[in-house]
Amino acid sequence: MEKKPFDQLGLSPDILKAVEKMGFEEASPIQTAVIPVALTGKDVIGMSSTGSGKTAAFAIPAIERADPKTRAVQVLILCPTRELAVQVAEETGKLAFFKRGIAGVPIYGGQSYERQFRALHQGVQIVIGTPGRVMDHMERGTLKLDALKIIILDEADRMLDMGFREDIEKILTSVPETRQMLFFSATMPRAIQDLIGRYAKDPAWIKIESVAQNRPQVEQTYFEVDRRSKIEALTRLIDVNDFRYGIIFCSTKIMVDELDEHLHARGYATDRLHGDISQSQRDRVMAKFRERKFEFLVATDVAARGLDVDDLEVVFNFDLPNDAEDYTHRIGRTGRAGRTGQAFTFVSGQEIYKLQSMVRWARLDIRRGRIPSLDEVEEARTNVFFEKIRATLEEKRFRPHDHMIDRLLDQGYASTDICSALIHLLQGGAPGLSAATAPAAAPAPAPVAPPPAAPRAGAKAAPAWVKPRLAAKAHDDGAAPAADVAGSASEEGLAGDEPVVRTRTGREPGKATLFFNVGRKELVTPADLVGKIAGVTRLPAGVVGAIDIHQRHALVDVDEHEADFILKKLAGIRLKGVTLAPARATDGGPR
Ligand code: AMP
Repeated sequence: MEKKPFDQLGLSPDILKAVEKMGFEEASPIQTAVIPVALTGKDVIGMSSTGSGKTAAFAIPAIERADPKTRAVQVLILCPTRELAVQVAEETGKLAFFKRGIAGVPIYGGQSYERQFRALHQGVQIVIGTPGRVMDHMERGTLKLDALKIIILDEADRMLDMGFREDIEKILTSVPETRQMLFFSATMPRAIQDLIGRYAKDPAWIKIESVAQNRPQVEQTYFEVDRRSKIEALTRLIDVNDFRYGIIFCSTKIMVDELDEHLHARGYATDRLHGDISQSQRDRVMAKFRERKFEFLVATDVAARGLDVDDLEVVFNFDLPNDAEDYTHRIGRTGRAGRTGQAFTFVSGQEIYKLQSMVRWARLDIRRGRIPSLDEVEEARTNVFFEKIRATLEEKRFRPHDHMIDRLLDQGYASTDICSALIHLLQGGAPGLSAATAPAAAPAPAPVAPPPAAPRAGAKAAPAWVKPRLAAKAHDDGAAPAADVAGSASEEGLAGDEPVVRTRTGREPGKATLFFNVGRKELVTPADLVGKIAGVTRLPAGVVGAIDIHQRHALVDVDEHEADFILKKLAGIRLKGVTLAPARATDGGPR
């Protein structure tokens, strides 16, 4: 379906200004096909439904052909309902905005005759109305059509269904023979073909399939997100929905590369497709994607065109597509084979207007969504895990280990504790490292931590440089903290999405202390932190010094001169399901 820029359709500067003001970037297929033909004065039969841009397809040539110097009615647009008449009148008014001297009026049943008389009396070139009311005015002599140049039937099939056939025929026989007819109908039943056969003169037939008709079964949601928060929003949506197979569309190659790298660094299995990637490489990526060897394909529209994959769970419009047609193509890749798919679209700032225009144009059924909070992401992760356990139990997909369980029960452990311990192990918890303070495991060097201030229950040591205020919370792993490090600690601020920088004193010289928003709650170990820092920054593990893991956060000493680099690189990276938001720990307490 060909689409052209409006300035290639032979239009006046006034109309070009109007379409630009309306935010139309290019002509739709029906507009591209109809406008140049209609401008020549030829009759046109347009087969296309609402949502294709047909109103502008007939209104633009009508406005162009109307003579502003003559006040007589030159264009008559017949619509089946008053709602449609009002809508068409509005759109025509906007398109004629810069055309000096061109005026129009809608006339429909239910509105007072007085107002319509007045408008008609003042002289308008364009009348938009329902057949019944138009007939009324013609019979009263308040609507004269002797100067009529163009008659337009919008949604002709609906007008016949509504019983307007007689009125339409009367109108058609009483307008000048020389008039041009633009005839729009979504369907072509016999009665319509008869009408065309009798009243159209050698018409051009133009048939365009509406994007709306091809709409797949897809649940569509949009999210208003700040440009800088898009990656965070994306990963949260993936995690909350536990998506495993989808395409993420970006508008540029650079964005594809960047996003692919970001997602990769955050632990998602991704690959990319765009125009700069060789054909053989593309084929390899596609083959891998079809075999589900990775989860998310990051791609541009061009690269993804003709891409033959079924069963996608989700399509993300990380960047808003150019128009409704691209949008429909993109989302059509999910929701195939009769299943409902998901399409998530991000809009930033002014893009909301573009989306609104696409929604109107293609009659998109899209609702607004909310980005899940970190707590919701956490809860979803737990639910996924819970579901896995439940399914394993339901389907009895496990070998009995009664003997071992019985032994543990015999030793007096409660069954709930046994299960909790198993879950802990399953989630990667290392029993020896889950305490508040643990040295960074290999490959980090032994931390140079100040000597412990006091022994704690459980034979773990609380470091002297943890202020008492923090220490109590830092040791809330069930064991009562020793009196001299315990305080009335609170964890205010740590639970929310905003990181709170915690105080740390007595750090080694030449080191900076960084705050990380993961902790024992996520079962993070010093090895995880060192591994992540070294892996993402490619710095030697030796830049990391003492690590102090608390219930919901961790304090990590790093070489001062690498601190900013580490902060920058680690921001937004995922660790244990948490998106890191590291910050410098200040000595002045929470910021
Ligand atoms: P219609 O099919 O005429 O009912 O048009 C549906 C919606 O699409 C209306 O809100 C129009 O303003 C909008 N529209 C029409 N043409 C274009 C275009 N070329 N680009 C963007 N939006 C358009």
